[in-house]
Amino acid sequence: MLKLNFHPTGRHFLQIPGPSPVPDRILRAMAQPTIDHRGPEFAGLGLKVLADVRKIFQTQHPVVIYPGSGTGAWEAALVNLCSPGDTVVMYETGHFAALWNKLALKLGLKTEVLGLPNGQNWRRGVQADLIEQRLSADPQHQIRAVCVVHNETSTGVTSDILAVRRAIDRAKHPALLLVDTISGVGAADYRHDEWGVDVSMGGSQKGLMMPPGIGLNALSPKAIAASAQARMPKSYWAWDEMLSMNKTGYFPTTPNTNLLYALSEACDMLLEQGLPQVFAHHQRWAQGVRLAVQAWGLSIQCEDPSVYSPILTGVVMPEGVDADAVRGIIQDRFDCSLGTGLGLLKGRMFRIGHLGDSNDLTLIATLAACEMGLRLSGVSLAGSGVQAAMAYFADHPGA
Ligand SMILES: *Cc1c(COP(=O)(O)O)cnc(C)c1O
Repeated sequence: MLKLNFHPTGRHFLQIPGPSPVPDRILRAMAQPTIDHRGPEFAGLGLKVLADVRKIFQTQHPVVIYPGSGTGAWEAALVNLCSPGDTVVMYETGHFAALWNKLALKLGLKTEVLGLPNGQNWRRGVQADLIEQRLSADPQHQIRAVCVVHNETSTGVTSDILAVRRAIDRAKHPALLLVDTISGVGAADYRHDEWGVDVSMGGSQKGLMMPPGIGLNALSPKAIAASAQARMPKSYWAWDEMLSMNKTGYFPTTPNTNLLYALSEACDMLLEQGLPQVFAHHQRWAQGVRLAVQAWGLSIQCEDPSVYSPILTGVVMPEGVDADAVRGIIQDRFDCSLGTGLGLLKGRMFRIGHLGDSNDLTLIATLAACEMGLRLSGVSLAGSGVQAAMAYFADHPGA
């Protein structure tokens, strides 16, 4: 039954890996009046956010801001770079990579899906050598783009994007590198320029701590040049008009002004702290959460510690336990939302988000809700995850 008055006191714990909790500072910034998007004041806001967001992607080049979602950012990248019938290589790291592939197929592109066999690709990062092999076997350069997900939100596994760049370079292939960092940017270290990415896709509701409603494309000069030859139909998503209007701080259509206030505030918050500090906080929170999962005696979906996600952790249930039933108890009894298992992982695991506006105590509370919910579900635990996380956070002060 839908309970509309569900949060009589205290605050809901929104611990899914996006949307993440929106800090009060950002909510307040959004409450400013909506202004004339063609008026003189607007250009100041437009120019500020367009400059700030480049710093967040660690790029000197333009970032396109769309009223839209992450899915729109996927579509924008493909329609601006591809022509009908083009082939793109998609590496399947999990459910989001699989959805991106589906979107490419719906656009009429040909796709080739790479990955490790037997579900191993949903537990490990991108194997760059598979990309190198495939590109080396394409001497005619039929493959237009390589698409990979930086932080796979369905599994809690990241991928080494620089290794993918190097693999493409070793194959001496001109394919464009498209990277989904929708849940990564603003939370995990991400370097658009240094890693030689052609288009990076972002979204507002994850590491950027904003409500849903903005999709982002960070571009390279090579991507901008390639878009001039791309023949896929496009209008709303076309970069050319955006880039020319953005030069003066304006947009071709009505932008979501109040979300731009939010974006401005979010960039201020991230840049005031400093990106290295923001990334270090996420690594530390993630480590505390993983120690809790290990203390419970449960396994983590990511099998390669070198690519553990700093943003979320996938907690695998013992055989016979329905992860969604456990999540349901935690939601009903303790007013805490956790991420469901997606695609192949439905019912097998739940996901704990530890991103954005978090701190040690919000995570201790979240782990307490999990621990109580697991016990209420009859899962036998090896020990207390909450104790393990408390010990870790207490003994390892953050930077
Ligand atoms: C959330 C997410 C998306 C989809 O974004 P929407 O805003 O839901 O359209 C795509 N990729 C990844 C990795 C995500 O985490």
